[in-house]
Amino acid sequence: MSDALRDDLSELARLFATHAAWQRELGALELPHEGSLPAARPAVEAAPTPAPSTPPPRVVAPAAPAAPVAPPATAAAPARPAPPTPAVKPAATTPVVRTLFGEPAVAAAPPRISSDPPLEGEARVNALAVIQDEVRGCTSCRLGATRRNTVFARGNPFARLVFIGEGPGELEDKQGLPFVGPAGQLLDKIIVAMGLSPDDVYVVNVVKCRPPNNRVPEPDEMRTCTPFLVRQLDLVRPEVIVALGRTAVGFLLDSKESMSRMRGKWHTYEGIPVLPTWHPAYLLRTPEAKADTWADMKVVMARLGIPVPTRGGNAAG
Ligand code: URA
Repeated sequence: MSDALRDDLSELARLFATHAAWQRELGALELPHEGSLPAARPAVEAAPTPAPSTPPPRVVAPAAPAAPVAPPATAAAPARPAPPTPAVKPAATTPVVRTLFGEPAVAAAPPRISSDPPLEGEARVNALAVIQDEVRGCTSCRLGATRRNTVFARGNPFARLVFIGEGPGELEDKQGLPFVGPAGQLLDKIIVAMGLSPDDVYVVNVVKCRPPNNRVPEPDEMRTCTPFLVRQLDLVRPEVIVALGRTAVGFLLDSKESMSRMRGKWHTYEGIPVLPTWHPAYLLRTPEAKADTWADMKVVMARLGIPVPTRGGNAAG
């Protein structure tokens, strides 16, 4: 090999090394190549949420009254007993695949409900507390700037039945708990009419911060926030989800069908049966639709093997 050729080759090697270092600085995972060189960095990175510190052993409720963890007292209670506690599974993270230049790839894998058995006992409570802490610190979308409190969940993390609403209203924002305003009071009436207690079920929203003037959450706000909800569902792993209104239905079922066509019929989210029904706020404005909701709840009760109360009449009345 001539000296000139050797010089050219070593200059090329130097330039390549500089380029590779620069690519790594930019967050590139691997350089384009045809062969099987090892990737410069792992192919999947954790979501950009701050790493949680060790969670305090407490439940889902934030500021105000503590939500119960204990199994429910009601006879027909749908909560599962809490068996012995396994080790805490690390909090699920949303994978963000990075491209050569470090920007997020077009389609990061959507979060999913795991096929592993759910965490039980304290481990579940602690894992939910970790997510709740992340939610408290979240400023990933514009709603973080106007909220007073984040609104995580209320009820029983071992519930067989989960109700999903849209997002906090004014009272929820003030108290840091979902469904505590007029719509929430109606929801509680429905739950009681089903022969249950609000402490038997788990109640949560699609977004954790109040949209200004109670507007419907924007698609990007929902995209940012719903990984938290998916992780909650992955931990609670209910037997049935009741989707309250269009926003919850839209998120869970990714459907543009009208509520009147979807409600009262079984659908599925990640293997979990979902029954859409009217949002309680809609029922407050449209009392004649309460009969629909009661019919829908009877379908849910049949699925869960909860006897339909013979007295007490119409749930939402
Ligand atoms: N409406 C909702 O969808 N969620 C709440 O928490 C309150 C009202």
